[in-house]
Amino acid sequence: MTGLASLPVFFNLKGKRAILAGGSNAVLWKAELLQAAGADVEVYAVAPCPGLAELAERRPSVRLFLRDVQNEDLNGAALAIADVGSAAEAERFRAAANAAGAPANVIDKPAFSDFQFGAIVDRSPLVIAISTDGASPILTQALRGRIEAILPGAIKLWAAAAKSWRKPLKALALPPKARRRFWELFNAKAFAANGAPGENLFAELLAEAGRQSQSVEKGSVALVGAGPGDPELLTLKALRMLQSADVVLYDDLVAPAIVDMARREAEKIAVGKRGYKPSCQQDHIISMMIGLAKEGKRVVRLKGGDPMIFGRATEEISALRAAGIAIEVVPGVTAALGAAAALQVSLTERDKARRVQFITAHAHDGKLPQDIDWRALSDPRASSVVYMGARTLGVLVERLLAHGLDPATPALLVERATCADERRIGATIASLPGKVAAETLSGPCLIFIGAVFAATEGEVAPAKEAAQID
Ligand code: SAH
Repeated sequence: MTGLASLPVFFNLKGKRAILAGGSNAVLWKAELLQAAGADVEVYAVAPCPGLAELAERRPSVRLFLRDVQNEDLNGAALAIADVGSAAEAERFRAAANAAGAPANVIDKPAFSDFQFGAIVDRSPLVIAISTDGASPILTQALRGRIEAILPGAIKLWAAAAKSWRKPLKALALPPKARRRFWELFNAKAFAANGAPGENLFAELLAEAGRQSQSVEKGSVALVGAGPGDPELLTLKALRMLQSADVVLYDDLVAPAIVDMARREAEKIAVGKRGYKPSCQQDHIISMMIGLAKEGKRVVRLKGGDPMIFGRATEEISALRAAGIAIEVVPGVTAALGAAAALQVSLTERDKARRVQFITAHAHDGKLPQDIDWRALSDPRASSVVYMGARTLGVLVERLLAHGLDPATPALLVERATCADERRIGATIASLPGKVAAETLSGPCLIFIGAVFAATEGEVAPAKEAAQID
């Protein structure tokens, strides 16, 4: 390990002296924090803010001295913190604290500080601290928000339960495998729970861990939707699944940033099958999933968009069921809905669309399917989204026009919807194939057809500009 900007440590301050110099609100907040961590807090201030006096009144562990701090005050202190104006004062304070053996922090003066305070996520006994080494407080706040979002709701109570069970569990002197299994089951429950651990949970987990450690562990497979591209569109459940997976099998449509969210120790295997290559790979993927699950692994099958939309989920589910493997499906944002959001177009706009339909323009043989319902697709009051339709676009449009669709119907191709390099080619249905043919497409594409897309026509990237992005 190299280049660690600072060392995070979790300081036990119970019964230790912490010295604060200054009377500002910043000092008040530090006093609150230190007393919450169990320290005996001494605040030295000639003119303390009203909150400090109030805190000292409320909390016996906080004492307020109406004078400047003296060097002797620092003797035996665990920490010393000051809010001072000048660099000279900061320097003096730090030197005095260090001479007394105490590390110093001068508020907002990292150059004069031995340690920094991180942002805190407090679910005590679980405490998470974040530092960007002063790079960006806003980034720190945003990271804290994300971490808060993925923590299970009642994690505080679960962490407290774990803490109280540690000793009784040790006293039982279980075989190591059963003990590990106990905590794995505990984690799984904690992540899935909405509320506090139940009263009998300790006994239940103990029994289950005993059973499971005797038998072979049971694996499982989760089909998880990764959304259309933007990693922010992942569901919290998908994220949790990724973070508890043993193996992640991912499609080539799934962004690397999403695969990276999987547990670090998880094995990550690309199982992509692109466009027109023979898809006998599907059988291979299925047998791989079954094999891994039978080894007792928690397998996450990560699919682009939503697993139930043009994802061959049925084949996978029935094969897994036949093999007796536990399955779960976690939905994702399908590409059409991701693109509609990016376009800010409602697919069901009241006066223009009565119906939304998702079709695929790609049959087993790579050609346009023979059984497309042309009447439905040329309905002027429908919003249609064509998946896997870029290559057969010419034939599709020919057939649509032959079935009476108005050539002036708004239509749009969106490549890599919701990704940073999303590209749009807007036209009418009659002119779309020509416009698209003039472009080089390299990412997944959707074709949108219908009156609701009229508004987007003028806004799309002109072909030339789009070509430059490529
Ligand atoms: N299960 C996926 C669809 C898989 S089929 C979903 O729900 O989105 C693969 C097709 O999806 C691609 O050929 C393309 O038509 C479409 N697609 C997937 N991601 C896309 C994206 N980010 N932008 C445009 N089209 C996308």
